Amino acid sequence: MNREVLRSDYIPEYLPHREEQIRKLTEVLSPLLKGERPSNVFIYGLTGTGKTAVVKYVLKRIDEYARRVGNNKFLPVYINCRHESTTYRVLSTLVESLGGKVPFTGLSTAEVFRRLKTRINMTGRIVVIVLDEVDAMVKRVGDEILYRLTRVNEELDKGKVSVIGITNDVRFREGLDPRVRSSLSEEEILFPPYDALQLSDILKDRASKAFKSGVIAEGVIDYCASIAAKEHGDARRALDLLRVAGEVAERSGDGVVRIEHVKVAREELENDMVSAVVRTLPQHSKMVLLSIALAGGRFSSTGDLYIKYREITRSLGLEPVTQRRVSDIVSELEMAGLVIAKVVNRGRYGKTKEVELAVDRNIIVKSLKDDVKVITK
Ligand code: ADP
Ligand code: MG
Repeated sequence: MNREVLRSDYIPEYLPHREEQIRKLTEVLSPLLKGERPSNVFIYGLTGTGKTAVVKYVLKRIDEYARRVGNNKFLPVYINCRHESTTYRVLSTLVESLGGKVPFTGLSTAEVFRRLKTRINMTGRIVVIVLDEVDAMVKRVGDEILYRLTRVNEELDKGKVSVIGITNDVRFREGLDPRVRSSLSEEEILFPPYDALQLSDILKDRASKAFKSGVIAEGVIDYCASIAAKEHGDARRALDLLRVAGEVAERSGDGVVRIEHVKVAREELENDMVSAVVRTLPQHSKMVLLSIALAGGRFSSTGDLYIKYREITRSLGLEPVTQRRVSDIVSELEMAGLVIAKVVNRGRYGKTKEVELAVDRNIIVKSLKDDVKVITK
């Protein structure tokens, strides 16, 4: 099995069912080849609908073409905003991709922005800035930086800038300042979810490169596709399923990937997702979850839960929060899909809340292993 081909950062040479989006983006960016600035583009759709892959693919194609014909009028710069947590980081990454230098801290944002303009002017080219997962940045630092970047052309004398903003958050646009919205969305491209048939085509193409022929049993691809189609048509999910199913088959010494391997893969992937959520919870949310898990997965009242929670936090040398706060934490955990809370009427004893884990308690305990070394010793 060639794992690389199934990894989500691999850019395939062929992207079935994205012809329309590829055509539109190529058309919007085509002024680049004449040395003119393209409109800014706003790209949106749910996760795994091929946005990152299509943008990278189109830019790569244009870049290759431009090189072939000796046109060096543009420069693509890609940033994933989820990985750059501050305005300072985003701007300095931009400066650095254009060959400039910025110290890790110490300058004012205004100064870094000034350096960025200098760099763009020095290139004398059209810099296409891709801000992938741009919502992650705006949620943290607001949309001021988008405002500046989408209008920076007024302040440049030689180079030019086009911005491609990409988001998985389909409601992101509504939250933007109207001025930012109109400058960013000069053009818009929607990436709709894939259906099961489209996901099958995508998987078939990738699978033919990743696996030797005959290694995938009949029906396996359609099965992966149908699972991913139910989960909002996410191609990443479909590819992960197939990749992990391949690993499960390998581990079990089976030469063929079968439906039962996909079922195991699905469970493993779900557990991984739960683990990832649990591990990033705030400390006291972890303690509340752990209290429920260690008590067998269920409490018939938040009062009992609180007693256990207090015992555990104290044994770990932590200061417990109030019962009221624990009640709020339970609601938060419920929203995160980790617990189910139910209000039950106990007649003259009044109302109480039953709390139950919505996921396997072993996964919770395993995910929080490092947080609780002290008590399981
Ligand atoms: P998004 O950025 O919309 O979340 P990605 O572009 O990262 O989604 O796609 C997720 C995964 O699915 C990547 O591995 C990508 O290569 C693959 N993929 C998405 N759409 C297609 C397609 N039409 N053909 C082949 N692979 C695709
Ligand atoms: Mg993406």
